[in-house]
Amino acid sequence: MKQRLLIVEDDEMVQSLLAAYLQREGFLTSLASTGKEMLACADTEKIDLILLDLGLPDEDGLTLARQIRARSNLPIVILTARLGKSDRLAALEIGADDYMTKPFDPEELILRIRNLLGRTNNSEGRSENTVRPEIFRFSGWSMDLAAHSLTNPGGQQIPFTRAEFNLMAALAKAPNRVLSRAYLLDAVSQDADSPTDRLIDVLISRIRKKIEINPRQPEIIITVLGCGYKFNADIS
Ligand code: CA
Repeated sequence: MKQRLLIVEDDEMVQSLLAAYLQREGFLTSLASTGKEMLACADTEKIDLILLDLGLPDEDGLTLARQIRARSNLPIVILTARLGKSDRLAALEIGADDYMTKPFDPEELILRIRNLLGRTNNSEGRSENTVRPEIFRFSGWSMDLAAHSLTNPGGQQIPFTRAEFNLMAALAKAPNRVLSRAYLLDAVSQDADSPTDRLIDVLISRIRKKIEINPRQPEIIITVLGCGYKFNADIS
């Protein structure tokens, strides 16, 4: 079954080139040129992933990404001409799964898209099906590494972005050990040009809001001053 990508881009030239390229790679495409069109499209069509330009005529892409993230775990790849580190951090902070700076290499974009779709779909057995299912349980939570899902003590599945999940997995795989920011950065980041220690702090703070009873006084992921972070729960 073909997967459908929603391209949100107001530059018609970029939009049509991208659509043609993605179709040639075997994807279905839906197009939107404004935030309004994007939201309408996301409501009416079954979309597997969103490619989102940050500079749109009606709304800022970051605001849109936040709106999507508030209601679904749909993979979002930000496409931006903005080069600033603060924009990239902001994109990951609001829950985008990946980003590429324009002009981008289409082959790299395809790889990143396939990577995200593979991860988000592998509960349907589409990929990574040779990986043995592994489930970590801690503090009432259950974390399914193969399905990339986290279920809270109330049995509710809580959306985690790819970066958040990979960070959680790195911590949970080494319970009660102090892990440095550099180590954790390595675990979450594929691209070497952007990561900073601050990214880890941002992701940790997002994760704490999801799993800690009081995120200001965390009990599961502990800050070890001057060293890094420690996963402070027993894993079964
Ligand atoms: Ca634009």
